[in-house]
Amino acid sequence: MTVAAGPRRRKNISAIEEEGARQDLSSPPPLRGRSPAEASAKAGGRGVSSKVAQVSTPLPNPTPAQVGLARLAHDKSKPGQARVSRGREQVEQAASPNIDSQALLAWYDRHARVLPWRARKGQRQEPYRVWLSEIMLQQTTVKTVGPYYAKFLAQWPTVTALAAAKLDDVLRAWAGLGYYARARNLHACAVAVVERHGGVFPDTLDGLRDLPGIGDYTASAVAAIAFDADAVPVDGNVERVVTRLFAIEEALPAAKPRIKELALSLLPPSRSGDFAQAMMDLGATICTPKKPACSLCPWNDVCLARERGDQETFPRKAPKREGKLRRGAAFVVLRADGHILLRTRPDKGLLAKMTEVPGSAWTHDFQLKDAEAAAPLDAAWRRLPGTVTHVFTHFPLELTVFAAEVPRATKAPEGARWVKLAEAHAEALPTVMRKVLAHALE
Ligand code: SF4
Repeated sequence: MTVAAGPRRRKNISAIEEEGARQDLSSPPPLRGRSPAEASAKAGGRGVSSKVAQVSTPLPNPTPAQVGLARLAHDKSKPGQARVSRGREQVEQAASPNIDSQALLAWYDRHARVLPWRARKGQRQEPYRVWLSEIMLQQTTVKTVGPYYAKFLAQWPTVTALAAAKLDDVLRAWAGLGYYARARNLHACAVAVVERHGGVFPDTLDGLRDLPGIGDYTASAVAAIAFDADAVPVDGNVERVVTRLFAIEEALPAAKPRIKELALSLLPPSRSGDFAQAMMDLGATICTPKKPACSLCPWNDVCLARERGDQETFPRKAPKREGKLRRGAAFVVLRADGHILLRTRPDKGLLAKMTEVPGSAWTHDFQLKDAEAAAPLDAAWRRLPGTVTHVFTHFPLELTVFAAEVPRATKAPEGARWVKLAEAHAEALPTVMRKVLAHALE
C-alpha cells in the first residue's frame, strides 16, 4: 500500500488498476457515432551523531547482529536478552544502535499530517476508523480516499452499521476505488467483528489477522495505531525509508522479511501507534521516491543511503513481469426511452457482483470477427473507433466497444436489465466499465 506528496501506499503492486475519473452519468449524452439529430441517447530533531552502522562495510547488507543490539538498552529490565516478547509479537532485538526512534517521534510531534481518519493528539484512535481507512488506502492515494472515507463514515458510522448494510450498497459506495475484492472483504470483516466479537475489534495481532481481508499489514496498522501494540505496519513508504536507512541491496519483494525485521528493531519502548504513523509520514512527505528532502529528515545523519548519495536507487526492485494482454468486446445499448442495458457479473472471480455492460469473455486469443456473436441482442451494432484500455493487477485489457439503439419495447435478454441512464451512476460500475460508458457516450 503510496501517497500525499508522494504515493502513500503500499505493497508495491507491480501493476495497478488505474483509477479513472468518475464519469457523470446523470444526463444521457448521445452514443458516439451518432449525429445530434440521432441522439436520444514533505524536520527537525536529529538522530545521533555517528553513522548507522558500525557495520564494517555498507555492502553487503548489515545482518541484524551487525546492525547491533543496542536497542536492548531500551529494555533495561532485561539486559542482554536477545529476544523479548512485546505484546503479542516476538520482536527481534536486532537493533539499530545509532538510529534514534525518539528523534523521529519528536519530528512527528511537530510535523504530523492532518488526516481525516487520524485522531487528534492525546486522543485514542477508534479501531473502526483506522481499519476502514487502512483498507481504503491499499493501492490508493490519500487524496482519492478522502471523499470515500467521509461517505462511508456518514452512511455507516460504526462497524455494526456497516455489518448490517447490504453488500450491494457497499459495492455501490465503493465503486471507483478499485480492487473490489476489498469492498467485499470489508463487509465480510464487519460482519465477522459483529458476529465473533460483539462489534468490538480484537486488540491483538492474531485476533485481527483472523478477520476476513486483514493481512499482516492491516493487522499491524490497526494493532499499533488503535491499540498501541508493538507492531510496525510496513507499507511502501516504510519500505523506502528502511531500505535507504540501511542501504539494503536485496531487491523487493524478497527483501520484505528483512525490512520488516529492521523496522521492528526501530520500534520505541512506547508510542507504537505514533511511531507507525511517523514512519508513514516520513516516507510520504520527506523520504519521497524522487528528490527526498534529506536536509529535513530527523535521521539524515545516520542514513546509509544519504551518506552514499544514492538514496533514489532504494528500494531495489526486481524486474517487472507484465501480464499478457487480454482483449474482448463490450456492448453499449440504449433504449429509446433513455435506458441502458446492464447486467451483474458472477458471484466469484474478477469484479465479482459488479455491474457491467454486456460483453464477451476477456481472453488472450479474442478475435474481433467473433465479437458480434457475444452481442446481447439483435441490433444495428456500430463498432466505435478506438479501444478502451485498462490495467488490472495481473493483466492489461483492451476492449472494443459496440453501440446500438433499440426501440422502447425491446425486452432485456436473460441476465440483463434496463436501467435509467440517469440512474446508472448509482450502479456498482467498476472503473473499466465507467471507461467503456465514457467512450460510448462522450
Ligand atoms: S534517504 Fe534522506 S529522507 Fe530518506 S531516510 Fe535517508 S536521510 Fe531521511
